[in-house]
Amino acid sequence: MKYKAVQRVFSPVKQWSWLFIPVIAFGGLFWHRLGLLLIPMMLALLIMGLLKGKYWCGNVCPHASLFDGILLNRAPLKRFPALLRNRFFRFGFFVFYMLMFSQRIASAVEYWGTLDFLDRLGFVFSLNYLVPTTVGIVLAFSYNPRAWCTVCPMGVMQELIYGVGRKLGINKATDRLVTISDSEACRHCGRCSQVCPMQLEPHKAFDSEGKYASAACIRCGVCVKNCPFDLLRVH
Ligand code: SF4
Ligand code: SF4
Repeated sequence: MKYKAVQRVFSPVKQWSWLFIPVIAFGGLFWHRLGLLLIPMMLALLIMGLLKGKYWCGNVCPHASLFDGILLNRAPLKRFPALLRNRFFRFGFFVFYMLMFSQRIASAVEYWGTLDFLDRLGFVFSLNYLVPTTVGIVLAFSYNPRAWCTVCPMGVMQELIYGVGRKLGINKATDRLVTISDSEACRHCGRCSQVCPMQLEPHKAFDSEGKYASAACIRCGVCVKNCPFDLLRVH
């Protein structure tokens, strides 16, 4: 499939959230406590993941703001490598990343009760932000602006927690899905799939109620904006 670099959809938050990256990933190397800003961000991401799937990735995430806003017209638009799309690789990488992260947190916790504790904890979070930033930029210029998003451990975590929310029926009222108003009217032109930043194929997978219920969908609305027949909505 030939992907198209159309303008992405930006809320005011997504437009500017990339500013958190230099503050946390680079500022935190010098003033470690800046890294602690990641704690409320991760909590918000988890709650949002439970209630709204990967909405964070499409509408809030600072890395998404960087990839969609700054790198989109500077990086290639190749298909994501098969390895990054492989579910076993993604899950294995998630487990590895979380183990490393937990180990670093545990080493900071050893300083609990001392003046050093917050600095060390902040440094762990900063480093934890610098690594995906660096790898994400390398992957963006090698393949596609959103290539990192296919393996991002925070994305995998949201998919997992969203699955729990779905099973328990917690997110029935809050989850908004891409929906086609009239599947008969769809011309199967594939435009919605060509513009999808996550290289999903919504036009092939609407359910009987016209909903695209993929946990991988980041609810970014790019397909909605680009259907030539105005058939799509997020609701
Ligand atoms: S862009 Fe619209 S008409 Fe084309 S395949 Fe997608 S939903 Fe159907
Ligand atoms: S299917 Fe639509 S809303 Fe979902 S990630 Fe792709 S473009 Fe965004």
